[in-house]
Amino acid sequence: MKGFWIRIAPDGCVHGSVHEEYVGPLAEDAHKEFTPRVADRRKEAAAGWQHQLVNGADWDRRAKPCLTGRCNHTALGRRVKDVPLPEVAS
Ligand SMILES: [Zn+2]
Repeated sequence: MKGFWIRIAPDGCVHGSVHEEYVGPLAEDAHKEFTPRVADRRKEAAAGWQHQLVNGADWDRRAKPCLTGRCNHTALGRRVKDVPLPEVAS
């Protein structure tokens, strides 16, 4: 299968993609491609980052909006980032 590995943030947003032909069939290798250091990979896996193999149609549907900045994840992320932390009432 000619597919793409997509890199998915914990919030579901796709942050990157790479050809399956280039990295091979293992999710571990795809992760390595984006995150070379094993300590960083462990941290990301624990935080909920995922790497999934998709076909061209799925890439268009799931990855394209994210990678072109047109997805809701990005809007949500920005909104959350702009909200100041609530002050804790004592
Ligand atoms: Zn997104």
